[in-house]
Amino acid sequence: MPTILIAEDEAAIADTVVYALRAEGYAAEHVLLGGQVLPRLRAGGIDLVILDVGLPDCSGFDVCRQLRVESEVPVLFLTARDGELDRVLGLELGGDDYLAKPFSLRELVARVRARLRRHIVADGHVGWKKRGDFELDAAGYRARFHGTQLDLTRYEFGLLEALLARPGAVFDRARLMDRVWGDALESGERTVDTHVKTLRAKLRVIAPGEDPIRTMRGLGYALHAGE
Ligand code: CA
Repeated sequence: MPTILIAEDEAAIADTVVYALRAEGYAAEHVLLGGQVLPRLRAGGIDLVILDVGLPDCSGFDVCRQLRVESEVPVLFLTARDGELDRVLGLELGGDDYLAKPFSLRELVARVRARLRRHIVADGHVGWKKRGDFELDAAGYRARFHGTQLDLTRYEFGLLEALLARPGAVFDRARLMDRVWGDALESGERTVDTHVKTLRAKLRVIAPGEDPIRTMRGLGYALHAGE
């Protein structure tokens, strides 16, 4: 069941949105502050985020900019004023869609459904492949570790996928660069280290005692998938 996180400080709006989403069979969670969005996303399992632009602690735009550093989860903005709408339309904020208040719940649910359909290739277990403690859905860019959904960036997912192709085998940085980044402009083998670090941190949240990615000094990385 797709899970939707809504960040909205107006309780009346949040309640009706949560109610409408649940009525459509989605799971819905609500937070009041922008600062609560990233920690919740990192905990995993969120398939789409609805962001009110006017939040008490920061703007929804700031939240979106921050989350885009590490996640490609679809984002739907809720905007109140014309000025906000102009910014949504005029700037590259990394949001996928927006609705201006007041909006109809039917319209909101339709937008959510369309975004999820585009983002999630197959719901449920179709397309999932299990390797040890990991499960990957390559077409949907989704991964689970010990049954818990990981919220990965495109590159973290690519790294995990590459390493899982041959568990235990050592991949040097150049090979990982090649496989995951292709001919992307932001290159440099430090990039691999940076993304391994963030991937490790996300795995650690789920299984604090394990470190399935092994650093082979001078060689590269290997992943142990578990039994
Ligand atoms: Ca607001």
